[in-house]
Amino acid sequence: MTIPTVQFNDGNSIPQLGFGVFKVDPAGTERIVLDALEAGYRHIDTAAFYDNEEGVGAAIARSGIPREELFVTTKLWNDRQSGDEPLRAIDESLAKLGLDHVDLYLVHWPAPAKGDYVNAWQKLVEIRDAGKARSIGVSNFLPEHLAAVIEATDVVPAVDQIELHPAYQQRDVTDYAAARGIRIEAWGPLGQGKYPLFEEEPVAAAARAHGKSPAQVVLRWHLQQGNIVFPKSNSPERVRENLDLFDFALTDAEQAAIISLERGGRVSAHPNEVN
Ligand code: NAD
Repeated sequence: MTIPTVQFNDGNSIPQLGFGVFKVDPAGTERIVLDALEAGYRHIDTAAFYDNEEGVGAAIARSGIPREELFVTTKLWNDRQSGDEPLRAIDESLAKLGLDHVDLYLVHWPAPAKGDYVNAWQKLVEIRDAGKARSIGVSNFLPEHLAAVIEATDVVPAVDQIELHPAYQQRDVTDYAAARGIRIEAWGPLGQGKYPLFEEEPVAAAARAHGKSPAQVVLRWHLQQGNIVFPKSNSPERVRENLDLFDFALTDAEQAAIISLERGGRVSAHPNEVN
């Protein structure tokens, strides 16, 4: 199995499918990430806020997989955006991960009420230039936030990691990003289980037609849309199921039918409300 890669605007590449560890409990993280690495995942998405960077690092060390074969993302939390705090925060994350650099470092939320996200982005540029992050990007940024950081630095984020699933496709953000070469990472790719996505007829019909699970259909839809995804599961069977996406393809009609499930339905917080 070969996982396709997506190229960033800085020339680096990311495996399009990875494994996310939001709400993976710190004590169990090493085991579940090791299982994911053994199953074939090579891209892990964590964050300082998830409180499980140490478990991710322990799994990487135990796996014996050469560092250059792995892609590790972590994120700067909102309370570390001011002054030189981001420079300290990356060092803390690297120490927990047991790494000398991450492949991608993100500003986790714009937290606009704090007014520090442009400063945070300027510090991420320094972190990249110091070799501690190969690529840098943002998460939960709306077009106005993207415009502000680009204006301040002339450095265009490699990615914007946003809530994106069939009922909430954020066309305004994805169009803005596409026009500037910013890749989209879709978080909550399965809608976080918060609405009956798997029972929607276009998803169920495609699952029947291809002999795949509804979750596999939705993940395949993301890949064909060009999104980078890293579904989370605590179950070893689902971890393997979510990797098994490369022996079928949705037709253009199936892809379009899932696009038509757009309902403007955010399942999580609005970016301006997380501060
Ligand atoms: P998700 O849409 O991946 O949903 C996870 C849920 O789907 C879990 O309840 C899981 O049990 C279920 N699931 C997984 N595989 C399944 C399968 N094959 N069949 C049936 N159900 C299945 O949501 P998520 O975990 O929130 O998002 C994925 C990753 O995105 C996270 O782990 C994290 O890395 C990242 N994330 C980032 C942010 C951010 O603010 N940047 C926010 C949330 C999540």
